[in-house]
Amino acid sequence: MFTSINPATGETGETFEELDGDGVEAALVRAEAAFASWRVSPVEQRTALLTAIADRFEANKAHLAETATREMGKTLVSAVAEVEKCVSGFRYYVEHGPEFLKGEELALPTGRAVTHWLPLGPVLAIMPWNFPYWQVVRWLAPTILAGNVGLLKHASLTQGCAALIQQMVSAAGAPDGLFQNLAVKSDKVSRIIADKRVVAVTLTGSEGAGAKVAEAAGRALKKVVLELGGSDPFVVMPSADLDEAVKTAVKARIQNAGQSCICAKRMIVHADVYEAFAEKFVAAMDAVKIGDPMEDGVEMGPLSSVEQRDTVLEQLERAVAAGATLHGGEKIDRDGAWMHAGVLTEVDPEADFAKEEIFGPVAMLFRAESLDDAIRLANEVPYGLGSSVWTNDADEQARLVRDIAAGMTAVNQMLASVPGAPFGGVKLSGHGRELGPWGLHEFMNLKAEMRG
Ligand code: NAP
Repeated sequence: MFTSINPATGETGETFEELDGDGVEAALVRAEAAFASWRVSPVEQRTALLTAIADRFEANKAHLAETATREMGKTLVSAVAEVEKCVSGFRYYVEHGPEFLKGEELALPTGRAVTHWLPLGPVLAIMPWNFPYWQVVRWLAPTILAGNVGLLKHASLTQGCAALIQQMVSAAGAPDGLFQNLAVKSDKVSRIIADKRVVAVTLTGSEGAGAKVAEAAGRALKKVVLELGGSDPFVVMPSADLDEAVKTAVKARIQNAGQSCICAKRMIVHADVYEAFAEKFVAAMDAVKIGDPMEDGVEMGPLSSVEQRDTVLEQLERAVAAGATLHGGEKIDRDGAWMHAGVLTEVDPEADFAKEEIFGPVAMLFRAESLDDAIRLANEVPYGLGSSVWTNDADEQARLVRDIAAGMTAVNQMLASVPGAPFGGVKLSGHGRELGPWGLHEFMNLKAEMRG
């Protein structure tokens, strides 16, 4: 059984039965059968289904959002925004997807070739709890459009959200087996990956899970996309609008109670503006309004679980033991997974904890002596997911975009995923891209039709 626990109260909520071996087998049979007809479905049928699913999400926005808040603690306002983003994600592929599926004519010395984007089959997605709808939708929308079939293994924490996604897709009129939520624990995943009816796998989650899934996919020689963790730098240079940078740094660090892969996690500030930034930033993190995530005006609720909160507290203990100074970041003594937002200063970039992802509302603050030093510090971690850079100097912007080893760099703004831009990382943040035509094409067969 899976049991939802409300991290705002510690109370036990709904329970969900785990799918047994026979249930998984039946799902794979249905997936294979669904692919046989969906692979040749007209693109208009696929976009009509995506529109119908978007409509279901929109019509059930409040229920979907409340379920996410109850299961993993994000503020209701942000949960509503997440559902709205899902609606726009489905609609993005309705509007632009058919164009992305068109092939090209190539002139060759031997004649010509025509390219075709063809579906591959059932794709398994293993997803995390932090954006329990959006992480799924950004894979599911292109999966349906491609003519593929989707199998979801969602996080144990958010089985209620997973069940609701299934309901939305079925209520929209999806053919039987086109999308199936497999309520299984992670120890069942490698067997599903090995099954010959599954053609590829995508995982969004931690490095550890990524390595296990990549290993299973490698053994079966199946394509894998990995969207893993990050410890994103937020670089502030002297020409930046400091107040705007501070405001955005706080927003970026505390969004989703600090549990976003592309949250700014390491603030790297030029020495000329370090003191001014530090003073304002520490004060603003201290003033973050914490409270019942269901209430309007609350900026941050609990973390997703007591275990997740305690993992962060343990990292902070190690940071302090290694000589860092912690401002805020204390545990809040009440039922649920509560803690204050905080900032670590005097951080040794070589310390173990400084190279880890802190998946909670605590920032690390570093002083950079120069642009080169800022880039060095930005690249000091094994991750390379996102980054945000603050400068009004065009040469500095160009250097930061070129030299920060990351999949994404936002200039003078907070980094966020958008349906039309590629999303993904380098180094231990994974490989492959989601969204736009890139995410769609990851799980398609680009066939060359050769002609004389
Ligand atoms: P996680 O423990 O890796 O869980 C993610 C998913 O993987 C869950 O469905 C989980 O199932 C499953 N899983 C865990 N171990 C597995 C294994 N050995 N084999 C197969 N599946 C396994 O990660 P998390 O703590 O929930 O999520 C936080 C991490 O995800 C952070 O590092 C964050 O940065 C990263 N993330 C990355 C992105 C991105 O796009 N790059 C986006 C969001 C989050 P159970 O829940 O049943 O364990």
